[in-house]
Amino acid sequence: MIKKKKTSIVQIVWNLPFFLLPFLLPLTGAESGPKQEIPFRADKLSDRVLFIKSGQSAVMSNVTAVATSQGLVVIDAHYKPECGHKIRQIVEKTFGRKDFVYLIYTHAGVDHMGGASVFPEALLIGHDNCPMRIDALREQLQSVDIREAMKPRLQSIQDQIDAGPASPEARIKLQEAMLYWSELTELMATGLEHIKPAITFDDSLTLHLGDVRVKLRYCTPGYSESDILIHVPEEKLLVVGDIFNKDRIPLISEKTDIRRWIDVFKPFVEGEEDVDYIVGAHDELMTLPELNVQLDYLEDLWEGVTDARREGLTLEQAKAEFSFEKKFPQLSHLGKRWVSWPHDLHERNIEKIWEAAELSGPYLGQKPPGMTPELFAPGILPTKDNEALYGFFNNATLCLFDRTPVDLEEWTPAVYRMELKAGKWTPPNASPFLGKHWYHYYKTAPEGEQVYFAWRGSIGEKTSSTDVNIWRVRMASEGWTEPNKLPPPVNSMDMDTYPKVTADGTLYFFSNREGGFGGHDIYRSPSTKGKHMTVENLGKPINTENDELDPFIAPDESYLIFCSKTLEGFGGFDLYVSFHKSNGTWTDPVNMGERDQYVCL
Ligand SMILES: [Zn+2]
Repeated sequence: MIKKKKTSIVQIVWNLPFFLLPFLLPLTGAESGPKQEIPFRADKLSDRVLFIKSGQSAVMSNVTAVATSQGLVVIDAHYKPECGHKIRQIVEKTFGRKDFVYLIYTHAGVDHMGGASVFPEALLIGHDNCPMRIDALREQLQSVDIREAMKPRLQSIQDQIDAGPASPEARIKLQEAMLYWSELTELMATGLEHIKPAITFDDSLTLHLGDVRVKLRYCTPGYSESDILIHVPEEKLLVVGDIFNKDRIPLISEKTDIRRWIDVFKPFVEGEEDVDYIVGAHDELMTLPELNVQLDYLEDLWEGVTDARREGLTLEQAKAEFSFEKKFPQLSHLGKRWVSWPHDLHERNIEKIWEAAELSGPYLGQKPPGMTPELFAPGILPTKDNEALYGFFNNATLCLFDRTPVDLEEWTPAVYRMELKAGKWTPPNASPFLGKHWYHYYKTAPEGEQVYFAWRGSIGEKTSSTDVNIWRVRMASEGWTEPNKLPPPVNSMDMDTYPKVTADGTLYFFSNREGGFGGHDIYRSPSTKGKHMTVENLGKPINTENDELDPFIAPDESYLIFCSKTLEGFGGFDLYVSFHKSNGTWTDPVNMGERDQYVCL
């Protein structure tokens, strides 16, 4: 919980003379007048922390200064050198010292970097993405006529002033927006250089400055791609830049990592880290409940819109379903629009989440697997129903899985297919046939795409037969063919299951048919133009008088991994590997180690 401020607030109002640029006159007219000034107000939050608010609305940016035993740290530098000078003067006067050691950018925003040249002795720090953003801005400025490009924005502000703002506050906001944007436009047109940070970091960076630590942490692409939060634990100060602001909803990007966003703020909202002061890049200080409400908004909107897209809603339907008024009445005090930006920010957020929810990239856009088990593709494959993933095929551009509704009595999943086409994944497509565990997909000429699977009883019949057989379906141009039970000798009167297929179509499976070495044995059946005419028992040393199960065969048949409890193992079923010799026989199986369990490969 946020605590009441303990220190008395020293308020110093500084006035910055504003030199009106000639080109502003026709736009601002009598509204701004020739002597418009930006007021600066300095609030001493504690002996070591100074909060500097400029302007009378949320348009102008904030600056925070921390006086440490090893020097002065300034966070953000306003939009122009004149403001930087004013800030420098305020900080020097407040603390009675001039030892600036660090200047930190909360992000590479034009309204927070323009005065950086005023602190040449301070080391400039920002996120790794700051230099890239500054370069991009510079390139943009070289390719467009900025005065021309900004005309519609300035005109829109002027139109709002002319229309007569609803309140004196709204008028002040518009006037300050006009002042800020027109002046910034002129500065950029005449070559204002934004200085790049000398020190950048990727995830986090802590400055140990004697009596205090200044901890920097990257958020995630949202408002910009370089947003960091700055935490001074000794002062219970949290500077959140433009990530959150008191008066407007936070902005999401299609690149936002919502989990990270929530994670980096978790210690503060859950009270693990005490916070007394939350400083946004604009407007007055925020309270912790205010920040909480905005975080909840982010999480709810993200999950809701992502689910809506995965469930097949259109963007327009998602916008209606997650309308600001209907779903987020607790946020009605927050601005959905900026004075200088006509977009509906909430709808823009929905569009960005919509974009992010479109799956792209191999492997369903997921991180390749590591050594620690993790839930795979959360929000995509796992639902409240039961899923089993068969795997990725065709260079991870085809994904097959099955899904059984939880309320279904019988385990009768439908097989789903998702494909990566032109960089995007198609929505899951259900097969017309009901599946059963142990699928194997493969693609080979001339048969094309096929799925082998094992099925107890007959397709379409609810028998409880123990006779498990191997079936096959093909993918034809008009969709999946009817499932076909493979004729003998592949299927026998006993259990024939766990089909796996090599690159040339050779089928491996296990069976407890008569004529084996005992228990279940592993069998092999070569393909002749897609037909399996013969079946051979793999023989010793693979098969023994006990059970050999679950063959996993390499696509080129060079090795076989299987389960057995016959051989000297660690107990129960162990995994073994055996290599195919050039004469067609197999090497003695080698136990794959103590860590395996009974595993379905
Ligand atoms: Zn800003």
